[in-house]
Amino acid sequence: MAATVIDGKEFAARVRGQVATHVTRLKDDHGITPGLAVVLVGEDPASQVYVRSKGKMTVEVGMKSVEHKLDADTSEDALLTLIEQLNNDPEIHGILVQLPLPQHLNEDLVINSIDPAKDVDGFHVSNVGLLGTGQKSMVPCTPLGCLMMLRDHHGSISGMDAVVIGRSNIVGKPMAQLLLNDSATVTIAHSRTKDLADVVRRADIVVAAVGRPELVQGDWMKKGATVIDVGINRLDAPEKGEGKTRLVGDVDYESCAAVAGAITPVPGGVGPMTIACLLANTITACCRANGLAEPEGLTA
Ligand code: NAD
Repeated sequence: MAATVIDGKEFAARVRGQVATHVTRLKDDHGITPGLAVVLVGEDPASQVYVRSKGKMTVEVGMKSVEHKLDADTSEDALLTLIEQLNNDPEIHGILVQLPLPQHLNEDLVINSIDPAKDVDGFHVSNVGLLGTGQKSMVPCTPLGCLMMLRDHHGSISGMDAVVIGRSNIVGKPMAQLLLNDSATVTIAHSRTKDLADVVRRADIVVAAVGRPELVQGDWMKKGATVIDVGINRLDAPEKGEGKTRLVGDVDYESCAAVAGAITPVPGGVGPMTIACLLANTITACCRANGLAEPEGLTA
């Protein structure tokens, strides 16, 4: 039987709808407009696209969106001063510094200067520690989106065997922690893992966050497994015309969909969930800042 396609686009629209409902409630009942500030340093084209669509969707759900675009040669002091201003701004509930930063800026220092309560990317060491000890934290958006889709599809993932391929701070490690917090049995595979195919074959849940186009093959897959493909890789597609490209994930979709029970497509899987979860995190941060109950189902 063909795998169920987990439609991230549709799911993300649903999450944004929930967020918009909560924004209306916060405005009408409490006179509060949640605010998200995005800081972009430099002119990286991909980052510019991400920041634009983050701003657009923030406005669409009724939140206040603030964008700070700084020159590529902005000094660390100037960036830290801006973050301090945003930390102290009561109208801003979420702060996101778009990564990667230019080489001369210390990424750890910058991220750790964000007020952890406003750290809607969930990358501050305090939030990493809180997540690791199972406490209330801000949860990184991409793994949060993956978790939401897994919970929605399975109900509970307790006791399931999960393999996360990739151990980055942004995706792999927090993903593994979230799965563990939901009582899955978790293996983290990475570039030094021996016999990756054999490790993947044991998994009921496979999360691929590698950055290697179509690495994961169908014959590595346990029958009926759920596959979450985080990868976004752009390949040349001369068959579509000169200079054209196409997006593929870290999973070989055709061969894996033939064996899996459920799978996320690329595009239209994990990608749209990331921005939806950023908005969800901003609502969560806003409710916490104002001592209000957090909306259910929008955090881990
Ligand atoms: P990264 O480069 O920081 O980490 C990649 C990880 O994969 C590393 O831990 C490395 O050990 C592991 N790895 C590399 N080659 C491997 C191999 N052959 N076998 C097993 N493991 C291997 O990447 P990242 O930031 O975690 O992103 C991973 C992918 O997810 C990329 O394609 C990225 O574009 C995508 N991504 C998507 C979203 C989204 O919103 N959908 C968000 C973040 C990242």
